[in-house]
Amino acid sequence: MTVSSNRQLVCDLQGVGKTSAEELRQLGIETLEDLFSYYPYRYDNYEIRDLADVRTDEHATIVGKVHSEPVLTYYAKKRSRLAIRVLSGRYLITVIAFNRPYLKKKLKLGDKVTVTGKWERNRAVLTASEFHVGLPEREERIAPVYPVKGGLTVKRLRAIVRQAFRQFPDCLSENLPSKIINDYKLMGRKEAVYEIHFPSERSRLKQARRRLVYEEFLTYELKMQAYKLKKRQSSYGIPMNIQRDRLRSFLGGLPFSLTRAQKRVVDEILDDMASDAAMNRLLQGDVGSGKTIVAAIALYAAWTAGYQSALMAPTEILAEQHADSLQKLLGPFSVNVALLTGSIRGKRRKLLLDQLKEGTIHVLIGTHALIQDEVVFNRLGLVVTDEQHRFGVGQRRELRVKGTDPDVLYMTATPIPRTLAISVFGDMDVSTIDEMPGGRKAIKTYWVRHEMMERVIRFMRSELTKGRQAYVICPLIEESEQLDVQNAMDVHAQLTQALPGFRVGLMHGRMVSEEKEAMMASFKNNRTHVLVSTTVVEVGVNVPNATLMVIYDADRFGLSQLHQLRGRVGRGNSQSYCVLVANARSETSMEKMRMMTETSDGFRLSAFDLKLRGPGDFFGKKQSGLPAFRLADMVHDYRTLAAARDDAARFVKDPLFWESEAFLPLRRPLIEAGILNNDRLD
Ligand code: ADP
Ligand code: MG
Repeated sequence: MTVSSNRQLVCDLQGVGKTSAEELRQLGIETLEDLFSYYPYRYDNYEIRDLADVRTDEHATIVGKVHSEPVLTYYAKKRSRLAIRVLSGRYLITVIAFNRPYLKKKLKLGDKVTVTGKWERNRAVLTASEFHVGLPEREERIAPVYPVKGGLTVKRLRAIVRQAFRQFPDCLSENLPSKIINDYKLMGRKEAVYEIHFPSERSRLKQARRRLVYEEFLTYELKMQAYKLKKRQSSYGIPMNIQRDRLRSFLGGLPFSLTRAQKRVVDEILDDMASDAAMNRLLQGDVGSGKTIVAAIALYAAWTAGYQSALMAPTEILAEQHADSLQKLLGPFSVNVALLTGSIRGKRRKLLLDQLKEGTIHVLIGTHALIQDEVVFNRLGLVVTDEQHRFGVGQRRELRVKGTDPDVLYMTATPIPRTLAISVFGDMDVSTIDEMPGGRKAIKTYWVRHEMMERVIRFMRSELTKGRQAYVICPLIEESEQLDVQNAMDVHAQLTQALPGFRVGLMHGRMVSEEKEAMMASFKNNRTHVLVSTTVVEVGVNVPNATLMVIYDADRFGLSQLHQLRGRVGRGNSQSYCVLVANARSETSMEKMRMMTETSDGFRLSAFDLKLRGPGDFFGKKQSGLPAFRLADMVHDYRTLAAARDDAARFVKDPLFWESEAFLPLRRPLIEAGILNNDRLD
């Protein structure tokens, strides 16, 4: 008699000896729990199908009756082809079996056969990969296929999993409360785990997966929500006393009125700032949705409450641009805005740092230079980071440490579906600007081949003649900055020649920041008319007079990046254009180009991008901080994710969750992860 529990080790299974145990360990499987959650990544399908439902080129298993004498032909030494007419349902088909000459003697007219193979509808041919005389006798009609390595075969692993179910039938106890099971009509745990390994039919497999995906999300979200709740209860932020009347007159002085969405997120942010919990909020909005002004309002509000604030940008160019526009917005209200970058050195730097320490600088803008040790604030209350996904998690944390517990606002122009944002940045609140300021003309996007560059240049000339400006993003050669620079120079030379009378500028990653800044300034002031650049203009740059964006090798960029680049135009009142230059290299690249020409909705594009590239690539592997789910797919299963998140948020706030027996199985992982004691997430 064995006491069954998930902690049971696989070596306790009958038939699993030292060798097998070691092979399993190589796959990360030591306990029964590990084994049960080692899910198949696909299934071999041996379900009996009706040919009417099988698409051409699909693999399927059918049963039928031998309808004619098999015809055997040899076409090379020992290579043979057997053709048998088989009646399967209403279909009289030809089954072809290669290199199974022995079947000819074995088969008699009228014999029942079970054949698995590839179906070609037009020729009514099924090419057999498996051939069995008689009716199906397989145990598993839908058989699991596991990732394996070493000496362990899929077949062997199937047997081990089977043995585990046989030997410890009761070790999978339910861990979800019955209300949840009933409300969502979820399959029980034991059944679901069994079905995910050995599905009895497609629909049951689907139900099993649904249940396990929910469970996986819920477990994850409970950690996130518990962590967030705990942090909220323990960390004392700064309850800012924002001067509402001053804020109102600031808003009244803006050259435009805020969109409904901007108003909403401003309220969310100001509420956080006024509360005594530290703000930890993600602000996402499409390119051009007006995040800068929202940040400006928050910075101003902090100032009215007597606090300093910091704004971090990923590049010097952006930092400078922010400094520029914030100076214009906040300067007239006697807010002292300063810029600190790596290129500010010597006396100027020292003076600036002194003023910061004294508190006479109210808003400090810069790159990650802001998190160096020498930078000391007097009374830091708010930190805003622009394009936060470009900052490493560590850098963000360091900045927090600069204040006691400052409010932090992360801005990103790579919007992702809300539910995803909430789980990706699990311990943050999320504000979304889902509306564009009115009166903008949609950017017209075209996809052309390289051969059409001459026409593109002609079009560029006509735009320039109207007084507009253009960006040209250079051909990209991965892994070689040297070649990228060479390419940029070639394009620059070509355009200079093709566009007499206009000034064509060049900007690339090899230039020092002073050179880049000078070039950017020249483009901003319309002294340079065409800016040829590697991707350094990617984020945030704002030159409203630029109406044309040409992107070479557009298919080499991710959709989100293309969308970002496109967002550099269409910032003024004139019609803007984006030309994607790409020769179709693959199905995916064509698909990307089509998506770009069809939609300007950044949320849609990023969702699609996620699907193409997977979340790891999308956010950059190292700093993604994304959870790796076994079964669940954050993009595909986003509805379930949303439900799990809401449930988790509700649970952790409910005393019952922390006390009642029914929640013990869900509570235990939280306690074991140390979330409630050590402020740690894993
Ligand atoms: P992003 O969200 O990409 O950072 P910006 O903050 O740069 O967008 O805003 C893009 C442009 O839209 C700027 O020129 C800004 O002045 C303008 N803008 C922002 N909000 C509004 C609004 N409510 N009405 C009209 N124009 C606005
Ligand atoms: Mg911006």
